Amino acid sequence: MAWLCGGKSNSELISNMAKSSILKSDRVAKGMTAVDRANFVLDKAEAYEDSPQSIGYGATISAPHMHAYACEHLLPYMHPGAKVLDVGSGSGYLTAVLHHLVQSEDKANPGKVVGIEHVSELTEWSIQNLKRDGLGNALESKEIEMITGDGRQGYAAGGPYNAIHVGAAAPTIPEALIEQLASPGRMFIPVGTYEQKIIHVDKDENGRITQQDIMFVRYVPLTDRDKQV
Ligand code: SAH
Repeated sequence: MAWLCGGKSNSELISNMAKSSILKSDRVAKGMTAVDRANFVLDKAEAYEDSPQSIGYGATISAPHMHAYACEHLLPYMHPGAKVLDVGSGSGYLTAVLHHLVQSEDKANPGKVVGIEHVSELTEWSIQNLKRDGLGNALESKEIEMITGDGRQGYAAGGPYNAIHVGAAAPTIPEALIEQLASPGRMFIPVGTYEQKIIHVDKDENGRITQQDIMFVRYVPLTDRDKQV
């Protein structure tokens, strides 16, 4: 399955997404340009297709246009220095893009992205992928932290988060993730079983929660480790 946005190179893929208005902002285009998708896939020949790809263990790296949408929707909350949680971080691709979006020169407030994934083999592989993509220093300084655990519990120690991305569909929105959202903060989460939709969960300056349905999607389930092949 391939969409029209695919390209022969990473830059061609990104410029095709910009032409079809999937990518709207220069910041997201720059963030995605800084990450070579070929470092995060098993089938390198298909690295720049705009399609999801199996990464083993019942997981997939999402299609580039879904990563682009996620970044665009979270962008208002991802200032340099922001804290971000990437639930179901899989290949580590989106974690890398999110890092480029929030990294900051301000040493006191450098920006931080936590990736949480329940398949330990994928966590290990994602760390190798991030290193291959030039992010070894960011891992060492803990501007990027990759953790094995149940993403439905979030990772309170790294929060509260200005932005939370969930890369797998939950039957209902996990309460712990709402708690770990900063005020203000936004979560981008696919919700549902057979029929799934992306929901924005926004927490305002006063801690008030609102939800908005964004679009219908198809994601792998956010589930128990032993229920995933
Ligand atoms: N965003 C990633 C992976 C998407 S696939 C990428 O594009 O590479 C969804 C991922 O969520 C899979 O890697 C799967 O193992 C993980 N996942 C599913 N349920 C989870 C849970 N309860 N906790 C943490 N990760 C989970």
